[in-house]
Amino acid sequence: MADNPRPRRPRTGPSSTTSSNTRRPERLKRQVPRATEEPAKDEKAKRPSRAQLAKLRAARKTAQEKAKQQTNRRMLIAASAVLTLLFIVGLSYWPSSSSNTPAYPGVPTPTAGPVQPANSQPSIVDLSSSGQAGNHILSPGTDISQAGGFNSFLNQPGTTTLVSTVGSANAAPEVAPVPDDPLLTVSDSTGVRLSLNVEGAARFYDIKAVGPRHFRVTFPPEGPNEYFSWFIARVENAAGQQVQIDIKGVRRHWRSQTPVVCSDDDPSALKNFESRPVSNPRKPVEAAHGPLLPDTSGEQWHFVDEVTNDGKTHKRGRITLHVKHTYKSDSSLIAIRPPYTPSYHENYLASIESDPYVTVHRVGKSELGRPLSVIQVGGLTETARKENPCLFLYAREHADEQDGSWTVQGAIDWLRKGETAEARRLRDEITLLAIPLLDPDGAALGMHDRIMTTFSYITTVPEVTQERTEAVHYTQFLTNWVNAENRLDIVHTYHNPGAAGWHFQCAMIEPDKERAAMLNSLNNAVTRDVESSGYRVDTRPVKKFYAHMRLCKWCRHYGSMNYGYEVNARSTKRHLNLGELRQLGTVILSESARQLHGPRGNSLITDIDALRLQRARRWLMHYGDFDAPDDYTRLKAEDVLSVKSLPEWTEDRELLGRLNDALNRYPQYR
Ligand SMILES: [Zn+2]
Repeated sequence: MADNPRPRRPRTGPSSTTSSNTRRPERLKRQVPRATEEPAKDEKAKRPSRAQLAKLRAARKTAQEKAKQQTNRRMLIAASAVLTLLFIVGLSYWPSSSSNTPAYPGVPTPTAGPVQPANSQPSIVDLSSSGQAGNHILSPGTDISQAGGFNSFLNQPGTTTLVSTVGSANAAPEVAPVPDDPLLTVSDSTGVRLSLNVEGAARFYDIKAVGPRHFRVTFPPEGPNEYFSWFIARVENAAGQQVQIDIKGVRRHWRSQTPVVCSDDDPSALKNFESRPVSNPRKPVEAAHGPLLPDTSGEQWHFVDEVTNDGKTHKRGRITLHVKHTYKSDSSLIAIRPPYTPSYHENYLASIESDPYVTVHRVGKSELGRPLSVIQVGGLTETARKENPCLFLYAREHADEQDGSWTVQGAIDWLRKGETAEARRLRDEITLLAIPLLDPDGAALGMHDRIMTTFSYITTVPEVTQERTEAVHYTQFLTNWVNAENRLDIVHTYHNPGAAGWHFQCAMIEPDKERAAMLNSLNNAVTRDVESSGYRVDTRPVKKFYAHMRLCKWCRHYGSMNYGYEVNARSTKRHLNLGELRQLGTVILSESARQLHGPRGNSLITDIDALRLQRARRWLMHYGDFDAPDDYTRLKAEDVLSVKSLPEWTEDRELLGRLNDALNRYPQYR
């Protein structure tokens, strides 16, 4: 204050130049109110009477109504013009039985549209944008019936713009390695480093060294289709040292999470994910932050030494997890759950490919060129594939939910190895189809939801219909599988929750009333068996809904029944080790198979057979042969077919003629 005294306002006097300036506003102030007061007096004098006011209001109202009617009429004319235009355009896009542009004898196809032929070069979709929002994709769990419904949309020809991002399996590019990002590796003052340049790590965190052997990883707010429950990183140059990692900005369900550490930093090596049987496993130990932690001495992934947390704990609050661990090696991986990465998956496939009970179907390549495959166990002969019940288990439609992969792998290994007498018998009595990692691109980039709701040719959003590479390849395989008369009876999709007290939950049953008894009975049996095997199960009533636009729901085209299962190795009460998580898969598979061979299973098979027959006849009637139509992807063919009339309901002679002709070649569908 002493050094910078406030400058004094200059003294002003009547004779100074500033005096006239300061006075002028005063005069203006006085004049302005006077100018406004005078008209006010006039208005008061001219104020209309009540009767006059009522008249004025009535006149204004009639004028407004007239204007409104005129606008409505104009809008109606404009709308009908647009609709007519759309309808005309639509007729040229949408196949209908009245179209006269057959591509093969008697079968109508669209006359125009920018869908690329199946053998064209694929266009690569920018994942950074497609995974984030994807405006053609409903957010997970969206009830499509609220949005007008799948069928109601299909009934509006002309509202579709066809866009394809699909190429053939052979034309797909080689997989591009995810380049290291220098911003995702940080060093502290002692040379210890934390790196997120790891396969499967998301790349959107802010990471910092906040002190010696102390790092902070900050999660951003979640965007559309994002739900952060996954984290993996590499800790370098830390052998024998305690390092603290703060995971900041995560949902409060993270507070019960106990990360695991592997002293080998290769997430693709099979040896890093083995579960050796332990003769005398120690009893689970209660961690300070809550959960019981099982013995991991037969495995390479071990729970960290200490976890604490702070931050807001109300429902929508974000917390910080403080993870302390003394590392044993110079380069270790730390993750929320043991990761099942695309490179590990390829090594796993290579290791089982020569198993006599296994067939690995290479079905194509992902958008970024990663191999897509379906594992078949059993069904060794054509007769077995056509007659034995078939279960189809897949995981990772949410690409960052690792637990489902290990559960599905557990089921595959139990069956193919014939680990028990029952497994050896079942290998010859059922066919297992399995996809442990549905979305390898999403998994490699640590993304949550990239392709889950792309298993539909038509979306509910009228502007865009987009065929995504993965969806096309998987559905191509499955449709060809069913068209070859192979069975496909029960479909499981596996997820893992952020956190829950249970290890197993049936999260979804289809709301089919006719099948309700079968669906519930099978699920109750599986849940009981899982519980009696020592796992914690969620016994609350199961939600009934169709998982529209997902692969499991798509399989209903073949009459298959589908279930959504949540498996959880990070129960807030007791965590599971890798072996226990795999074992869960064997319990679910064996009980499901048992049910399929029981009396409920027989009525289920009968019901599925009826739907399969309808579908086959419809296919033959509209497409003439199972090889056709050539210019449709199977994804498109199946979806378009699903809204066509049933053979029994049509009187169209051309269609019936084509069906009869086809039935001469396929008498089994008579
Ligand atoms: Zn999920």
